[in-house]
Amino acid sequence: MEKREELYAGKAKSVYKTDDPDRVIMVFRNDTSAFDGKRIEQLDRKGMVNNKFNAFIMGKLQAAGIPTHFEKLLSDNEVLVKKMDMIPVECVVRNLAAGSLVRRLGVQEGLELNPPTFELFLKNDALGDPMVNESHVQSFGWATTEQLARMKELTFKINAVLKELFASGNMLLVDFKVEFGLFKGEVILGDEFSPDGCRLWDKDTREKLDKDRFRQNLGNVVESYEIVGNRLGLTF
Ligand code: UDP
Repeated sequence: MEKREELYAGKAKSVYKTDDPDRVIMVFRNDTSAFDGKRIEQLDRKGMVNNKFNAFIMGKLQAAGIPTHFEKLLSDNEVLVKKMDMIPVECVVRNLAAGSLVRRLGVQEGLELNPPTFELFLKNDALGDPMVNESHVQSFGWATTEQLARMKELTFKINAVLKELFASGNMLLVDFKVEFGLFKGEVILGDEFSPDGCRLWDKDTREKLDKDRFRQNLGNVVESYEIVGNRLGLTF
């Protein structure tokens, strides 16, 4: 597998072409961003930790029947994935209220959401990733009705699988964001799943173990990501 020119650089990852038109290499950098990229810092070891964490989670999801773009780990910071046409919409599921939901609706952080909520956000940094609804997704052609239904089904299935996985490490999966794309016409999971894109609390103390440590200046950001991995049996 030959690594070729950079295709795209996001806030925390870069994507490179390969000699296979159906495969690209994702590189996890140490950059950590918050508030729509207005704050960016380098956190030692974060690229490696998130790359390995993501590979572990993608493996679990794949084993549970969720199609993903993951192919194989190439190095500490690099992973080989299927080249997809990304659907420019983020899917968010919440089991407990936190973050923007608390700000938007004025509810108490930690409020249990039963059934879990499903929200959609347009991927558009200039607009600050605005919340959109299912009608917008279809009318603007970001995804078809069938693709949207599949994204929603897969997002809830991911929630069921990962809620149980994190519970086995005495953690609560508060909320998470996933992104999908199309590979040869099929909707598959793309991007990454790491503590950068979800909220995880210790079940007993409700200590935050995710990117809120960075957003809220709580310290020990990467250390906490490693603790999450360790509790699932991962070593870095
Ligand atoms: N999230 C993300 N990328 C984004 C926005 C949100 O990964 O661009 C994740 C975030 O880490 C959390 C969930 O999606 O796990 C819900 O985020 P929320 O809407 O509460 O927004 P935030 O508080 O992060 O602004």
